[in-house]
Amino acid sequence: MNAPADILPSYTEQWQASLGWYPNAAQQQRFQQLYAAVLEVNQHINLTRITSPEDFWEKHLWDSLQGVASYLTDSPPTDSALRVIDIGTGGGFPGLPVAMVFPQWSVALLDATRKKIAALESIGQTLTLSNISYLPERAEHLGHQPLHREAYDVALLRAVGPANTCAEYAFPLLKLGGRAILYRGQWSPAEEAGLVAVLPRLGGQLQDVRPMTTPLTQGVRHNVILTKVSRTSDKYPRLPGIPAKSPLE
Ligand code: SAH
Repeated sequence: MNAPADILPSYTEQWQASLGWYPNAAQQQRFQQLYAAVLEVNQHINLTRITSPEDFWEKHLWDSLQGVASYLTDSPPTDSALRVIDIGTGGGFPGLPVAMVFPQWSVALLDATRKKIAALESIGQTLTLSNISYLPERAEHLGHQPLHREAYDVALLRAVGPANTCAEYAFPLLKLGGRAILYRGQWSPAEEAGLVAVLPRLGGQLQDVRPMTTPLTQGVRHNVILTKVSRTSDKYPRLPGIPAKSPLE
């Protein structure tokens, strides 16, 4: 069965107005290819429920990239080869669009569901994305593997549970000075206080909370930016399932 031939609008003005950046023609074409590949794979395995062109653009492409907007508009452009990990990548968001726009970065896509990672690998092959690695693992395991512990400059987490759970997954994987970017919808003072209370135990610090509005439907987004300021105790992450079931408090 052929994938539906949906066309992604370019939304150049929306990119520019919201992020001060817009994709060039080659990047537009890559996004279109990504959209087609995701729709195709989605016929066999449920990667995402977000499939209309408008929704895909706003909730997957735009949303994935707004979290790294500061890198998009760095002047001069960041040419450093950052090691990035997308923890709980699911259908490949935010990791896939980020890898496409920053070919100089290496992006690890981590998900506990092996089938999803296999599907992402086939998308990566179709699109010949060479700066991606695929990790069918739990964050609680990866965080104790010497090859991965304290190995990443940036961790991205979208829709992977409470902020404190995300922090426990991310900090063991981050280098000193590395940062975690939590993609949140609403963000409350109570959530922030709860997160700030546990960060010292993980070696983290709250750096910034950046509110954003989605360009098509005016949805609420917050990027919560955390920095690693000291080593994370070997106690973390705790055993598989515990960080989600009993978030640090
Ligand atoms: N980031 C994607 C997917 C969110 S769904 C998006 O925003 O669209 C959450 C994903 O996290 C699921 O695919 C689930 O398998 C994965 N996940 C949840 N807990 C995990 C853990 N402890 N380690 C690795 N992956 C996990």
